[in-house]
Amino acid sequence: MRILIVEDDHMIGEAVSLALKDAAYAVDWVTDGSSASRILEGNEHQAVLLDIGLPKRDGLEVLRLLRQQGSTIPVIIITARDGVEDRIKGLDFGADDYLVQPFDVNELLARLRAVIRRKGGQAAPVLSNGMVSLDPATREARRGDTKYLLSSREFALLHALLLHPGAILA
Ligand code: CA
Repeated sequence: MRILIVEDDHMIGEAVSLALKDAAYAVDWVTDGSSASRILEGNEHQAVLLDIGLPKRDGLEVLRLLRQQGSTIPVIIITARDGVEDRIKGLDFGADDYLVQPFDVNELLARLRAVIRRKGGQAAPVLSNGMVSLDPATREARRGDTKYLLSSREFALLHALLLHPGAILA
């Protein structure tokens, strides 16, 4: 699962990027709006965390263009505490959710899982080896009727094992 972060504030970009990598996401990070639009044309990401105040092209414009091009990729906008109008505009332009700075990393991860789950079509398929199945969008493993919510490490391990079954013998 690959996430694009669009954030010109290096402290926030760094913190979010680390948190996502920690949670076993692949992460790309760009710091201006035109780079964001360009990289999103590649269709390689499953979700976007989008700051509004950005150099070159602001976040709302990036979002508007993205939706105009027919993309349904989940977008969470990141706004300042007093950015009520930006939030409303963002939702009107087709954002899936928003986070107000400063935000808690765990809340960010939960909201990310939620928007990806809601747009199941974009999410990676459920992996299974016939005994255990794993839904990368929700991080839920299932064995028979029992569900397990995994830690980041457990998830990363199980994900790798289900993707490369031979690896367990090596
Ligand atoms: Ca900014």
